[in-house]
Amino acid sequence: MKDVLSRMRQLPRVDDILNHEQMSSPPGAPRALARQAAREAVDEARSRVLAGEESLDLSPHAIAARAVEILHAKSARSLRRAINATGVILHTNLGRAPLSDSARQALAEVAAGYCNLQADAESGARSHREFHVEGLLREITGAEAALVVNNNAAATVLVLNTLAAGREVIVSRGEMVEIGGAFRIPDIMKLSGCRLVEVGCTNRTHLADYERAITPATALILSVHQSNYRIVGFASQVPVAELANLAHSRGLLCAHDLGSGALLDLRRYGLPHEPSAPESLAAAADAALFSGDKLLGGPQCGIILGKADAIAGMRKNPFYRTFRVCKLTLAALEATLRLFLDPDNLLTQHRLLALMGRPVDDVRKRAEILARRMREECGAPLSVEVRDGESEVGGGSLAGYSIPTVLVRLRLENVAASELLQRLRLGEPPVFARVQEASLLLDPRTMLDDEDELLLIAVHRAVAGLSSGACCPLRPLK
Ligand SMILES: *Cc1c(COP(=O)(O)O)cnc(C)c1O
Repeated sequence: MKDVLSRMRQLPRVDDILNHEQMSSPPGAPRALARQAAREAVDEARSRVLAGEESLDLSPHAIAARAVEILHAKSARSLRRAINATGVILHTNLGRAPLSDSARQALAEVAAGYCNLQADAESGARSHREFHVEGLLREITGAEAALVVNNNAAATVLVLNTLAAGREVIVSRGEMVEIGGAFRIPDIMKLSGCRLVEVGCTNRTHLADYERAITPATALILSVHQSNYRIVGFASQVPVAELANLAHSRGLLCAHDLGSGALLDLRRYGLPHEPSAPESLAAAADAALFSGDKLLGGPQCGIILGKADAIAGMRKNPFYRTFRVCKLTLAALEATLRLFLDPDNLLTQHRLLALMGRPVDDVRKRAEILARRMREECGAPLSVEVRDGESEVGGGSLAGYSIPTVLVRLRLENVAASELLQRLRLGEPPVFARVQEASLLLDPRTMLDDEDELLLIAVHRAVAGLSSGACCPLRPLK
C-alpha cells in the first residue's frame, strides 16, 4: 500500500502534461481538448497504479505520449474514410456504394454554397426538387414520372400508403423479406396502414393464388425482390408482367420492390442478370421502387418510377415531405445518373461497376505487389500468402453470386487474426477485412485505386504494435 501511495505521488500534474512539448501535436488541436486529453492520460495512469501495476512508466514524457495518442483520437473526425478490404462490394456498414468522381465533384460544388434546388431557372418560380433528376430517370428507364425519397424503405411506405392505405395488399409468402435494420414486409405494411394478405407457399406461389385472394377490399399486388436470399430447388414465383396483367384486369394496381434496382441489363458487363427498372416498367408495374446506393452506385436514396398519376398522388402525400432528400443527395444522384447516358463508357466512369468488373488478373497483380511489400516491410513474424478467393456483391444484390478475386492472407506469429483485425480497424484510416480459418484475408477488389500505400502503412503499424508487445490497442474515443 505504501508503495502505491509513493507511486501516486510520482504522477505528473495535468498542467505539466498539458505544457509538455509533445502536446503541440496534432497542431491546432483546441486547448480545451488538449487539457481533457492530458487529464484522461493522468487519470488512466492513476487507475493503473491503483490496480497494482508496478512497471508503468510514470515519467511526464511517457504520460504525455499517451495524452498525445488520446488527443489524436479526439481530434479525428468520427465519420471518416475507411478502407474496405472485405471483398463485399456493397457493404452497408461501410456506406454501400463508393461514389464516382463526377458525383463527388457535384457534391462539393453544391455543398459549398447556394443552388437552384427548387427554383425553376426560367420563371424563378418554385418547382419540385427532384426536377433535376426526373428527366434523366425518364430517359434512362422509360418511366412516365419519378420521385426520390430518403431510401427504399421510405419509398415502400410511400407507395403502399398512397396506393393502398386502409385496404388489402397481396404478397407472396416467398417474398416476405427482412432486409435488416427492422425492414420487414409485414411491419412496413402495418406502418403504411395496409392489410397484408399472404398467398402461396414459401417455395411456390402461382398466379391462381393471387387471383383467389382478390376481394373488394384489395387495392394492390406487391412483388418484392428476394434480395438477400435465394429459394432454390422446387421453387417458383409469378413474373411481374403476369401480376400487373392480373391486377389491371381486375381494376387493381401492381407495385414492384426491386431492392437493388439495376438501371440497365448488367449482362452487358459480364455480370449476371438482376431485375432492372426498365424491365419492371415494361412489365407494366404501376410503380417500381429501388435503392440509390446499391447497384445504381449513387448516394443513399429511394427511387420510385411509375405512371404519372400514381407519382403525382405520392407527391401530395404528407409522408413525401417527411421522406424528402437534401440537395447533396440530389447532386450526387444526378451526376451518377448522367453516367448511364453513355453505357459504352460506363465501366470506366462508374466506380461501383468498375470495382465489380475488374478483371481478376488485375486483382492478382495488385495482391502480389501488396504481398511482396508486406513481406519486405513487416519481416519474419508476419506470414503473407496470396490465394484465390471470392468477392461478393452484398447489399442484398445478386445474392449467391460471387466474383472471382485474389486475396492476401496474413498470419501473425502468436497473435489471433481477430486481434490483428481489431488493430487494423482502430488504425488511421480504419481497415476492414475478413477473418477466416485463423487468418486475416484482405481483398484488393474492393479497395479504391489510391489505397495501396495507406493499407501498407496500416498493416505495418498494426504488426509493429502487436509484435512489440504493446499492451493495449488505441482505444476508440468518442
Ligand atoms: C435493400 C432493400 C430494401 C431497403 O432499401 P434501403 O434503401 O436500404 O432502405 C427494401 N427492399 C428490398 C427488396 C431491398 O433489397
